[in-house]
Amino acid sequence: MCGVFGIYDPLGAPDRDVARLTFFGLYALQHRGQESAGIAVSDGGRVVAMKDMGLVSQVFDEPKLSALQGRMAIGHARYSTTGSTAWRNAQPVVQHAPGRTVALGHNGNLTNTTALRDELRGNRVRLQSTSDTEVIAALIARHPSPRLEDAIADTMGRIEGAFAAVLLTEDAVAGFRDPDGIRPLVVGRLDDAFVLASETCALDIIGARVERELNPGELVVIDADGPRYRQAVEPRSASLCIFEYIYFARPDSEMQGQGLHEVRGRMGEQLAEEAPVEADVVIPVPDSGTPAAIGYARASGIPFGEGLVKNRYVGRTFIQPDQGLRERGVKLKFNVLPSMLRGKRVVVVDDSIVRGSTTRKLVQMLFEAGATEVHLRVSSPPIISPCFYGIDMADQNELIASGRTIEQVRERLGATSLAYLSLDGLQASTSQSSDRFCRACLTGEYPTEIPGDMRNAKLRFEELAAAEAAAAR
Ligand code: 5GP
Ligand code: MG
Repeated sequence: MCGVFGIYDPLGAPDRDVARLTFFGLYALQHRGQESAGIAVSDGGRVVAMKDMGLVSQVFDEPKLSALQGRMAIGHARYSTTGSTAWRNAQPVVQHAPGRTVALGHNGNLTNTTALRDELRGNRVRLQSTSDTEVIAALIARHPSPRLEDAIADTMGRIEGAFAAVLLTEDAVAGFRDPDGIRPLVVGRLDDAFVLASETCALDIIGARVERELNPGELVVIDADGPRYRQAVEPRSASLCIFEYIYFARPDSEMQGQGLHEVRGRMGEQLAEEAPVEADVVIPVPDSGTPAAIGYARASGIPFGEGLVKNRYVGRTFIQPDQGLRERGVKLKFNVLPSMLRGKRVVVVDDSIVRGSTTRKLVQMLFEAGATEVHLRVSSPPIISPCFYGIDMADQNELIASGRTIEQVRERLGATSLAYLSLDGLQASTSQSSDRFCRACLTGEYPTEIPGDMRNAKLRFEELAAAEAAAAR
């Protein structure tokens, strides 16, 4: 995953501090990645980057932002995927080559990194990180064409998988999107400045307006001559990640022209129609389950209430809770309101269940607080297949719904009843046709080819787990 942002200010207006605007853009995109944050700026002559582990507000302060002077900038907030929490994997990554310097922020995941890394190594290119992002930056920085558009377009044809990226050179900002459009990227305007962002909420925060979404396979380069759009690679499909609609993007963002809060409300309404239940109160698992819970309550006529309170400041901090706190686990994040739950039949609505570990604890907490029945309603279908495009959805054997019936999942979670939104119901709620989405996590059908080594990497873990389980028996 990740959040990306970019801005090009043709005039270098003194009251338009691009690093500060990028900071605020990233601040609005914080939900897309909490592991590390970074900003790169250029004044037209030199690229300067600053990045570190932590939240956007932990990485940057007033003196650091003031040191980043320029007319153009890009920024990145990184989402943690398995194991690679390290400074060298923070972004933007910077690659210097004789022809140009490139800073790159990437949202997504490449599926042919291994082959490209081997090729770069063969050409004696030194790679410092283990990330696929550095590979993209190296290919573009070292590209023989002096024209940035050509260098990016050519590289777009060589990399595979999911990418929505922002790029900065000494004198240009660029954005580009993979031919399946798996990850979102939108172009905005702030007076005469051009802005790129993963989501529209990042445009709202700085007062920019939406121009349009970048199309699958499209590239935009913004420099002194203004923006130039190019359909760099043939669009293969328009397969926006459906998990952006379900969970990932902020509810106040718009995608494909639709407000996600409204779409999620429709998912909840649809869920109430598909899976009604007699109950006293509908409560959300905040915050991600809230719009769907509102929809469920509206359609069912059961009153909406709050039964769980979320600590808003739980991010990925570097201070691990001690053992005692860890055992209390989910209470760091959620607490119950017994007065809302005691003696009640409760419908609890959440947007998704991945591993089921949080949900199981929540169900238990609701019963302990005095709920007589806990009816779990999930506003997406069961997640049964891993994501190869940047969502940290675990190995298949960790997905609670993979290889289990809904009744078996219900039993594991300890709920009175469990129902998921149907795939058709989900699709209807989006008001878009199914061919506009990647739904691989729900169906196992991937829009791009997944090379054997990637599948095998996941399978290897599965085999290991199976072997360990067998040994333990
Ligand atoms: P589980 O019961 O699977 O452990 O957790 C379910 C919860 O995780 C849901 O509330 C859902 O909103 C949330 N969730 C779904 N996907 C992600 C993700 O990629 N990252 C994080 N941090 N939470 C997620
Ligand atoms: Mg949630």
